[in-house]
Amino acid sequence: MRYVSTRGGMKEASFSEAVMTGLAPDGGLIVPGRVPDVSGKLETWSSLSYRDLALEILKEFTDLREPALKALIDKSYSVFAAPEVTPVRKVGCMHVLELFHGPTLSFKDIALQFLGNLFELVLTSSGGRINILGATSGDTGSAAIYGVRGKRNLSIFMMHPKGRISETQERQMTTVLDDNVMNIALEGTFDDCQKVAKTLFRDLGFKRRFALSAVNSINWVRIVCQVVYYFYAAFRVMERSGRERVRFSVPTGNFGDIFAGFMAGRMGLPIERLVLATNENDILARFFNTGRYERGSVKSTISPAMDIQVASNFERYLYYREGEDAGRVRDMMTEFEQSGVLETADGAVENFITAGTAGTGEALDVIRDIYRSENYVVDPHTAVGIAVGRTQASADIPLICLATAHPAKFAESVSKATNGYTPRHPSLDRLADLPGRCAVLPASVSAVREFIKGNAGGDA
Ligand SMILES: *Cc1c(COP(=O)(O)O)cnc(C)c1O
Repeated sequence: MRYVSTRGGMKEASFSEAVMTGLAPDGGLIVPGRVPDVSGKLETWSSLSYRDLALEILKEFTDLREPALKALIDKSYSVFAAPEVTPVRKVGCMHVLELFHGPTLSFKDIALQFLGNLFELVLTSSGGRINILGATSGDTGSAAIYGVRGKRNLSIFMMHPKGRISETQERQMTTVLDDNVMNIALEGTFDDCQKVAKTLFRDLGFKRRFALSAVNSINWVRIVCQVVYYFYAAFRVMERSGRERVRFSVPTGNFGDIFAGFMAGRMGLPIERLVLATNENDILARFFNTGRYERGSVKSTISPAMDIQVASNFERYLYYREGEDAGRVRDMMTEFEQSGVLETADGAVENFITAGTAGTGEALDVIRDIYRSENYVVDPHTAVGIAVGRTQASADIPLICLATAHPAKFAESVSKATNGYTPRHPSLDRLADLPGRCAVLPASVSAVREFIKGNAGGDA
């Protein structure tokens, strides 16, 4: 498989190049040169285990040899607490796809466990070494750290705004004591963290000298790994319900998770529709209802991983929507970068993705309802997906709601919604007694630059 840029300005790249590149050099996102049609394989695939299915799907997209790929998959998914990796539960009249059985209890582990192992493999064979730099307001940081801890040839520098993320999320990161993990609490806001990261990535001399790399949600591997659970869940629910098509509801922030569902549909999985659910940060819901994509300001909610205005994976969707016309995507994105507005020629709207918004009150109601009626507990992100999914339910088509985080990660909101039930998880309980390590730095580029110079591994 060869890879191209959504803006058409990149020489065709191999899978490994696509993985190590992140953003394409022309500012676009990396997509496969052609989407594989797997509709003839669905019947055989439908009885595979999660890992065997992952092997078949990743084979379509990678140039790795099968034994190496299989070893990566086994290593990445044996650390999940559920033998099925992503079990699908029947809860009332819907199906809940539990994506939170990885080491940090959010769906981001599914891709970042694999990506960490893949980085190590690629770097070992090329003899290279990289330093990952990132800024996090929550789930991504811990999933990335657990993905690369203890790995050879790479270090990670993860910044978070000091005192401004939940204590659980902070402890999940700072209790990882491996030599190659550097947590930085920046005396500033999440925006300050992002600015520092952006400035250092733009300093090309520094970037090259320390081989700075990112693990953010635009990395193509993250999408492919997420495609797998759409197939896995659809197969389970089709066999359970006897139906031939399914619908998914996806709590959405950066459009990475739902884009994986979009890809699964293009590959031939019989998805009748994807329901895109946002919280009050509704830029995407507005786009799918009006055809106008317009930047606003970010509001803080109880589902912080979805508190996003400009969705970094949206451009990939746009590329397919515009018939893989890279020139057109380039023009639209340039226009958007200048004006903060993007409009599609044909106005709204398509039928494959339908969107809605659920606010904080509705999310809390859903958590309470499901707890009372089904004795099942969901986190606030999952609740947004269920709230919107329910309003678009159909009697004939099974609804699969993606559960993106374990409720214990957001225990406070759950407790508020249920009037006192506090969900727990042993891997969070044990954090309280562990020692931590974290550098506290002022929110300045030079402080972080000096810290990286002093702590980067290898002989840069
Ligand atoms: C990251 C995250 C999301 C949003 O996923 P995107 O791929 O950014 O759309 C939703 N829920 C949880 C718990 C997350 O961590």
